[in-house]
Amino acid sequence: MMRRGGVTAEDLLDAWLYEADPVAGCRNCAAEKRKLDQAVEAGDRRARFAAAQAIRQCGHGTGA
Ligand SMILES: [Zn+2]
Repeated sequence: MMRRGGVTAEDLLDAWLYEADPVAGCRNCAAEKRKLDQAVEAGDRRARFAAAQAIRQCGHGTGA
């Protein structure tokens, strides 16, 4: 894999796939962010994507 400035194409793809913007004060976001962090530590890409997706699709307090 070509490297430029230490950032691989995979890194950039990951940044998009796993983009998540948890909202402060949203319990669902907080819970999913914990899952996401755990998935990162575990190297579990599927769980990481699932958690990031859950944050993106979160209604931010309109639900639970
Ligand atoms: Zn939320």
